[in-house]
Amino acid sequence: MNGDATKGILGTAFLYTNKDTVSIGVGTLLSGLIKHKIRPYELLEYVKNHSMVRPYIQGGEPVEYLAHLIPEGGYRSMPKIVGNGVLVVGDAAQLVNAIHREGSNLAMTSGRLAAETILLAREVGDFSENTLDHYRVKLMESFVGQDLKKYKDATHHFDKFPQYFETYIPMMNRAFSQMLTVDGSSKWEKQKKILRDMGSFGEKVKIAWDLFRAWKVMT
Ligand SMILES: Cc1cc2nc3c(=O)[nH]c(=O)nc-3n(C[C@H](O)[C@H](O)[C@H](O)COP(=O)(O)OP(=O)(O)OC[C@H]3O[C@@H](n4cnc5c(N)ncnc54)[C@H](O)[C@@H]3O)c2cc1C
Repeated sequence: MNGDATKGILGTAFLYTNKDTVSIGVGTLLSGLIKHKIRPYELLEYVKNHSMVRPYIQGGEPVEYLAHLIPEGGYRSMPKIVGNGVLVVGDAAQLVNAIHREGSNLAMTSGRLAAETILLAREVGDFSENTLDHYRVKLMESFVGQDLKKYKDATHHFDKFPQYFETYIPMMNRAFSQMLTVDGSSKWEKQKKILRDMGSFGEKVKIAWDLFRAWKVMT
């Protein structure tokens, strides 16, 4: 869920359907919460009380509650991941793809590559940084390194320019809502209304430019 779910702060909310339960959560940048003076549980309560979400959980009971920091700094925030006798994997190595909300698969792959490197080091009887560097090379060659590199500027970009989450996503939500609501008006009329909602010609050019910049940091 994008937009209102995070009150315009960079991030998303989610609702996963499990066999016997639903998992509901909201994730934003810590800096966004501080800036907007919102506590994490207040944002979660806001999502839970949203008219689109409430029916799914009404009458339900919380069976588990969790708050966790996710290191979303990405490629540019990665610490040194290899040293003499030490390898760093998963969240500790900042291996999180914030754009796709992935961390478990990166953590598991880094764990496997670290284990393979340790076996190799054991074979040659050398646990120095020089030998263990094999892990860093394999990690950066794998989808983990490739994906982190692909989105290396994305989080910073969306954090720096708040209009994406504050303005464009709500605008997009309104546009979809209008287009998908059957109310007797033609799609032409709806399209005109959506274009009007986007503002003056200058504002439309700015939106187009911002979308181009977003596309650049995502590809
Ligand atoms: C709300 C939320 C939703 C998420 N959704 C997704 C998703 O949909 N898809 C996805 O791919 N990823 C998701 N992630 C990210 C994913 O959970 C993490 O990236 C992943 O679990 C990292 O694995 P890890 O093994 O590195 O760290 P962790 O899973 O955090 O494991 C670290 C373990 O170390 C233990 N530990 C800590 N300190 C000590 C200590 N001193 N001694 C012993 N043990 C210690 C902790 O208790 C913990 O069990 C989500 C994360 C959160 C918080």
